[in-house]
Amino acid sequence: MKYRNFGKSGERISALGFGCMRLPMMEKDGRETVNDELAIPLLRRAVELGVNYFDTACGYCNGDSQYTVGRALKPFRDQVLISTKLPMPEVHCTEDFDRFLDASLERLDTDHIDFYHFHGINYACYEEKILGYGLIDRAERALADGRIRHLSFSFHDAAPRMKTLCDTDLFSSVLCQYNLVDRKNEESMAYCAGNGMGVVVMGPLGGGNITNGGPEFLKKFSLPAKTPAELALKFVWGNPSVSCALSGMQTLEELEENVRLAEFADTVGGEAWNKLVGESDELMKLADLYCTGCRYCDVCPRGIRPFAAMIEYNRMHVWGLAEGARARYGRAKARGELNIIDCIGCGACSERCPQKLDIPTELDRIDRIFSDLK
Ligand code: SF4
Ligand code: SF4
Repeated sequence: MKYRNFGKSGERISALGFGCMRLPMMEKDGRETVNDELAIPLLRRAVELGVNYFDTACGYCNGDSQYTVGRALKPFRDQVLISTKLPMPEVHCTEDFDRFLDASLERLDTDHIDFYHFHGINYACYEEKILGYGLIDRAERALADGRIRHLSFSFHDAAPRMKTLCDTDLFSSVLCQYNLVDRKNEESMAYCAGNGMGVVVMGPLGGGNITNGGPEFLKKFSLPAKTPAELALKFVWGNPSVSCALSGMQTLEELEENVRLAEFADTVGGEAWNKLVGESDELMKLADLYCTGCRYCDVCPRGIRPFAAMIEYNRMHVWGLAEGARARYGRAKARGELNIIDCIGCGACSERCPQKLDIPTELDRIDRIFSDLK
């Protein structure tokens, strides 16, 4: 396993982190819960293979992830860094900070959490809840009494806001979305890393979309790789701002393959990484020529969300990620966002499109393409 300095935290973190959001599950007493017989050996094997960062949260795995992570890692507590999170949507007062923190400590069966995150925050949440409820004061007390060792946040906002949060000087690390196909956080990640924060990446494989990319995706890039996952992970690890890439692994095979790839974590740097960035930039430009994803077309009186179709069309044609695009298109349809048959051709969407797309015609064409893929 390769290890990296985790910002200025003083910790050394494994290049591969274990995302504990989708541990193996089973049905028990009429509810879905973690299958400890599979999950505990998996987590312990990860420790054996050198993974030292485990990321969980209160709600993961139907609320059971923290229990399993606690049971699995208890014998190795001093060898690992446990990350967990304060569920911000459920925080409604100052006291909720300690209530959730103490519950997490109990579920994880530990007396300290290494990296405690404000979960999935945007700047509005920072102002309204973190500042509004005086949660920093509570966090500082928890840091002082040792219940948490480092304060962090996971990020879901417009990329420049990450810099604003970094400038508060409150946080040791950030957890954010980043991969070869979605690089909007790249500049802000560099800013955070440059200012001493550790950067952990979630979704390095684009939520599985890249994994299923196949040869069409690989052909878009010059870096030799046997699988799309290998290419995608090497890209993330090659970014000098990145400390650790999280992967949610469900089987020993997945774990061992990712650990094998992590051995190459430091091999794609400098020129090779810049070349990948250049190739990714070209694909992004190509995608933007068709649809920039601006969402100005999200005005449909019939509830159709045209951008959802355009983005998946780009994902398939420009990036070569047909399977993921088909699956996402299907999910958008199931949510009722792409009932193209309901279009009355009013043109409200096209009027707002900076790309001057004839959206009703495009929607019809794209819907046929995805229907034919089934
Ligand atoms: S043209 Fe169709 S998709 Fe566009 S806004 Fe009108 S009804 Fe909605
Ligand atoms: S307005 Fe045009 S460019 Fe913007 S998301 Fe919609 S289709 Fe794409």
